[in-house]
Amino acid sequence: MKFQISVLLAQAFIVPSLGMTSAGRRGHGLVGYGISMYRPVCAFACRDILSSATLNCTMAAESMPGMSMDMGEATTDPSCYATDDSFLQTLAYCISTRCQKESVPIWKIEKWWQLNVAGIAAQQPDPKESYQQALEKVSTPPTEVHMQGDPLNKTSLTDDTDYLTSWNADWAFPILDKRSETFGLVIMLSGVAFPIGFSLLRFLPFPALWWSKLNSWVIDPPLIGNKHSTPVLWNLFLMPTRGQALLIGYFTLINIVFASAGIFAIQPNSWNPGDNYGWLLTIISDRMGVLSFANLPLVFLYAGRNNFLLWITNWSHSTFMLLHRYLAVLAMLQAVLHSILWLRLDSHSGGLLAEQREPYWYWGAIGTLGLAILIPTSILPLRRKFYELFLAWHVAISILVVAGSYWHIVFRFEHQWGYEVWMFIVMAIWAFDRILRFLRLARNGIKYAHITIIDDDYVRVTVDGVAGNGHAYLYFPTLTWRVWENHPFSVASTTLPVASHARVKSVEQDIEKHPDVNTTRLSDSIESSSTHSAHGSHKTALTFLLRTQSGLTRHLRAKGGSIPVLVESGYGSHPDLSEYATLIAIAGGVGITAILPLVRAHTGRTKLYWGARTQALIDDFAGPLAHVSKETFVGKRMVIADVLEQELRGETERVVVVVSGPHGMADEVRDVVCKLGRTERVAVQLLEESFSW
Ligand SMILES: Cc1cc2nc3c(=O)[nH]c(=O)nc-3n(C[C@H](O)[C@H](O)[C@H](O)COP(=O)(O)OP(=O)(O)OC[C@H]3O[C@@H](n4cnc5c(N)ncnc54)[C@H](O)[C@@H]3O)c2cc1C
Repeated sequence: MKFQISVLLAQAFIVPSLGMTSAGRRGHGLVGYGISMYRPVCAFACRDILSSATLNCTMAAESMPGMSMDMGEATTDPSCYATDDSFLQTLAYCISTRCQKESVPIWKIEKWWQLNVAGIAAQQPDPKESYQQALEKVSTPPTEVHMQGDPLNKTSLTDDTDYLTSWNADWAFPILDKRSETFGLVIMLSGVAFPIGFSLLRFLPFPALWWSKLNSWVIDPPLIGNKHSTPVLWNLFLMPTRGQALLIGYFTLINIVFASAGIFAIQPNSWNPGDNYGWLLTIISDRMGVLSFANLPLVFLYAGRNNFLLWITNWSHSTFMLLHRYLAVLAMLQAVLHSILWLRLDSHSGGLLAEQREPYWYWGAIGTLGLAILIPTSILPLRRKFYELFLAWHVAISILVVAGSYWHIVFRFEHQWGYEVWMFIVMAIWAFDRILRFLRLARNGIKYAHITIIDDDYVRVTVDGVAGNGHAYLYFPTLTWRVWENHPFSVASTTLPVASHARVKSVEQDIEKHPDVNTTRLSDSIESSSTHSAHGSHKTALTFLLRTQSGLTRHLRAKGGSIPVLVESGYGSHPDLSEYATLIAIAGGVGITAILPLVRAHTGRTKLYWGARTQALIDDFAGPLAHVSKETFVGKRMVIADVLEQELRGETERVVVVVSGPHGMADEVRDVVCKLGRTERVAVQLLEESFSW
């Protein structure tokens, strides 16, 4: 009697865990994609119903060293399964009769036999005989039916209901799991294919006017209202454009549909006997886990500086950042649902206390909590106010999320079912980005930044011997204790006339003595077609123009002179605007740095409207902009609607309007361009060079 109680308790422990057993051999791929789960079903079902049988070699609690009867343990170890005649022959007979319907070839059964008879551990004894040898020993067909959980001490038949109960679970779960992985792959791959596919559409030979109408109706306007760069709703959110909203809609839709698509319940079922509700919760919870994992590679890819989609599409980094934030929210909600559903399942089955002590449980909790904490601590006001703090926290917690998710899977399944592959993809994306950042830095080495004060608002930074366009991240390791701190700035110029630079240097020495004194102009230091011949002596040097804010830029201004700098360059090359006959550029303040290379390179009609707080900034750019038709506004606002109406009305050629400036200015330009694009017969394209994301 005592022995039977102990066996029953052991069964209670073993049976529910049969479905997703933890230990196992390493799988390669995902379930259904390289990893075959519970196939052939007939063999697994036969093995499962015999797993809880007490064999002659099963060790009861009292015979196990150090175990008392009260501890309620009895185990059948792998060597027992591998050698027990009754077990081997009953299993072989079950397989031979049940697997006929599934037409499983003998070689497959033999292979399965070799790997699974003793158990599913990575290291375990081989069965003492092959499947066919065990079957040959069954000289007369058994007549006695073994009921699941009963002792097994002679070759027996297996009960039909027991078999069906196990078969259903072993058949259904892998199908549902493969669907989860398939949906996960669809999310991840479409998150790569969509940006590529959509940006290829621009090569379709549609009339420019059609594109203009499409952009001004469907792609460029904010989804609601007329603000896109300016925060809305208590400064908490950025309103997506209609084009971005379509993508967000797509990701929302597939994530909602995939949350429950193709899920079914089946009874009898050994995992949730008579409990379809429990089964469905299990499946939905696991689906949530997989979908959350599948969103994370995109979350990391979209946030990366070295996101390869930036190289092959015409999408902006701010669009990817918007999607990064949105998908992160989806992944967080899915992880939270996954955890809540498992909490409900475990507390319902009474196993919560035991589960909570398992490493997989608390690592999973770390992953979910990490995601849940990241979202509220990444809201726009915090990003704007405490950018460096936000960034350090964001990176640290993200590492915890990935580590937590990875260990959650490894402690639970020991690499058996490949769920950790999603985390490997995340790690690869993250490592790729970091390695490329390092290489971009290493390529340039340690340089010196020459800091020139232009006026109360602006400073110019020049770095000799570095090439690049678009924007670069500057590190000033000696400026503050946060040696890793780096900030993006647009490259205003890529070469310097040698003679002028010497003058810049001498004036910099003066600045150190007289920091308030205005210094050389950009027109003196930047290459200017009016003042320097193409054959003049130039050197490679990057020039940046910085508006002083309250963080690193303020320290930089206070420091002045020459300080060591690391330059991570080569980001965001300039778009090719040669197909547009007319370029209308609207710049606000320091936004001119992103506009300057475009207006200087454009060969058609170019008109620049530039508003700045001070004349000093305008004067600084006098040289490089000498040959650009421009109107400047100092201390007064340009009326953007008037400017654009005047430029666009009646324009018969293709026009591109580029804006780079404060959020309000960018939004107004977007609004007016969209309105004119909708109402006028003008082929206009909007391009926003943004200084934030
Ligand atoms: C692609 C790009 C190009 C830019 N080019 C220029 C330029 O040519 N000239 C210029 O003056 N400014 C440029 N900026 C803006 C510039 O990066 C920030 O003004 C600068 O980082 C502020 O530094 P701070 O520590 O003094 O700012 P703080 O006073 O701490 O913050 C001011 C604002 O800058 C934002 N910010 C701070 N650090 C970063 C960062 N590492 N990345 C993004 N935003 C940040 C904050 O969220 C806040 O909104 C550019 C930004 C981007 C994204």
